[in-house]
Amino acid sequence: MQTRTKGTDRARRLLKAELDVVVGRLHAAAEVPRADGAGGDFLDVAQGIELQELAGLNASRLTERAKRLRSALTRVSDGQYGICSECGTSIPPKRLLAIPDVTTCVACQQQLERGSSQAFEGESMLASTARDDAGMSAARSARAIALTPSASKAR
Ligand SMILES: [Zn+2]
Repeated sequence: MQTRTKGTDRARRLLKAELDVVVGRLHAAAEVPRADGAGGDFLDVAQGIELQELAGLNASRLTERAKRLRSALTRVSDGQYGICSECGTSIPPKRLLAIPDVTTCVACQQQLERGSSQAFEGESMLASTARDDAGMSAARSARAIALTPSASKAR
């Protein structure tokens, strides 16, 4: 239990640190001067608008990220952190380190990205791949043996 608490603390620290950065950037984006200031010359105004658009784009992205990080922190408190929201298996620590606010395992992520209509098909495909794996590798090694003589002949 000690190690689990330690890991959770680490995850919480990581998420909080990232959230701090995101919130800091959001504040910085909010401080971009408004473009409608009177008296500025055209270039200043144009640049201001550009900055504002960029900031707006970043802000929505950052807000989304902050939301995900906050929900990840909630999951840490609930003891749900690191557990796939789709299939309930634990997400590999490496994946969590790379994407601290991730909510699904790799397989579920891929299924979600493929779209819900194809999710079922993808699942059965994965299952059949696993089932045929033994047969596949046997065929592969047979082919490797068949290829070996010609390869040595070529030399
Ligand atoms: Zn999963």
